[in-house]
Amino acid sequence: MSDDARYSTPPAPCHNCDFAAPESIPGLEDMSLVTSDCRPWNGRRSLTWCPCCGLVQKRVDQDFHDDCCRIYGSYTVYHQSGGQEQKTFSTDGAGMARSEHLLRGLLDRTPLADSGRLLDVGCGNGVLLKSFGALKPGWRLCGLDLDDRSRNVVKALPGVEDFYSCDLTQVPGQFDMVSMMHCLEHVPAPVEFLRKTAALMAPGGLLLIEVPDFSTNPFDLAIADHCSHFAPETLEASARRAGFEPVLLERGLVSKELTLLARLTGETDEAYRIADSREVAARAINWMRSTLAAAREIPAAELGIFGTSIAGVWLFNCLEGKAAFFVDEDLSRVGHTLFGLPVVSSSDLRAGQTVFLSIPPQIAKTIIGRMAQSPARFALPPDL
Ligand SMILES: [Zn+2]
Repeated sequence: MSDDARYSTPPAPCHNCDFAAPESIPGLEDMSLVTSDCRPWNGRRSLTWCPCCGLVQKRVDQDFHDDCCRIYGSYTVYHQSGGQEQKTFSTDGAGMARSEHLLRGLLDRTPLADSGRLLDVGCGNGVLLKSFGALKPGWRLCGLDLDDRSRNVVKALPGVEDFYSCDLTQVPGQFDMVSMMHCLEHVPAPVEFLRKTAALMAPGGLLLIEVPDFSTNPFDLAIADHCSHFAPETLEASARRAGFEPVLLERGLVSKELTLLARLTGETDEAYRIADSREVAARAINWMRSTLAAAREIPAAELGIFGTSIAGVWLFNCLEGKAAFFVDEDLSRVGHTLFGLPVVSSSDLRAGQTVFLSIPPQIAKTIIGRMAQSPARFALPPDL
């Protein structure tokens, strides 16, 4: 199929609720993309919004499944830092593993029993299980992942009872808690997936979901293997339709992410209100396009891209690699090269260099504040 033919194909039915005619959100079709493990991706995707269930989504067709097979077939989490989990940074620049930051924030807000059985769905190399086991050593932990490669690493973690690499419905036993860290955005038909999850859980069990918040992190929409994009209302509605009652729904417990903790009641609420997140998604796409236009104004020979994660790699790909270096605050990434460009720290910057931060200005200003002594120039995208 030619690219033109693919773009002119009418929208597919909603993959969440089967509604026949989701509405198009234009602007993503010709944009370069990035994979969720931070690699450039040059396939093309279009975006729709379902007025029936409220989900902003990518078309899930054979192309999508084929791309996901290729992406997951060589998946390497945190390849920029040799497998170390991504860190979150406070205003003073101190870093903490993202899953530990999330769990500490969660335990500050909601008490959790001292013992129980947890399943982490999409456990990867076990970063959540590791943090959970350290904070709640009385729990028995299990991991589930499509990819079998991390089996031994996960099973060696303290408290881990078992690792499964099978369909969700095949996992044995019953769980007091199920966690999904950056999992549900990869899943077509998320409500059906949550219903299958509910069937594995003890009555009153807890579901913990962490997904990107595209209202504050537009790049979620540019990730090739993310097909479900959540606003807080859509996340809540999805959980309610699957028989869960929210305990906590928070934006920004981890920066640019949504956190939902919900309790299994078994009572489904099909009629729960939907959100018109179409406008928010359209604004996010327009912001990415303006960001790219601003970065293209800077001569490639002086351009440094801030960040080696999703936003930085997306910009690098859209610019077709026409930049001089990356800058990163995470020192485990500094001193390496990424896609042929050196990764430097802010203290390495020189006069005559321009660092472009493809980050909403309100967040970028805090980062620039930490680099105030640098002789380099800093450039920002427009307001989001
Ligand atoms: Zn729908």
